[in-house]
Amino acid sequence: MAYDQQNIFARILRGELPAIKLYEDEHVLAFMDIMPQADGHALVIPKVAAVTLLDLPPEAAAYTINIVQKVAKAIEKALDAKGIVLMQLSGEAAGQTVPHVHFHLIPSSIHHLGKHAAQMGDQDKITALAEKIKAAL
Ligand code: 5GP
Repeated sequence: MAYDQQNIFARILRGELPAIKLYEDEHVLAFMDIMPQADGHALVIPKVAAVTLLDLPPEAAAYTINIVQKVAKAIEKALDAKGIVLMQLSGEAAGQTVPHVHFHLIPSSIHHLGKHAAQMGDQDKITALAEKIKAAL
């Protein structure tokens, strides 16, 4: 599938749309999910123009997973998370809704996840959770 430069995450990466950011470097951005499936739901995206995990160059995948682990540790510490679901949807058939590869970190249980990309979260609450996670990074 061709990469759509106008997808929401591409626009966030270009600074055209806002995001509650947790971490950013030259290669990766981590930010809060706007429709969380649990409190503390975060997303980690490589800055490479790739739609799915299958399109992502292995070096970018390797780098990104390091940051996924770093953010996961911060979530665990900040929110006293007993477990974290790492989710990655590749392709519409899997339920992917934003066509830029991303990793979900959801402090929850696979048995208790809220509905996917279904309901806007409370922005003040998400911002407060983000501040805690950032402080633990
Ligand atoms: P996917 O379905 O592609 O695996 O996940 C996309 C995720 O992006 C969903 O969890 C959804 O809530 C989130 N999302 C969709 N639009 C936005 C947005 O504009 N900002 C942020 N921060 N998250 C978004």
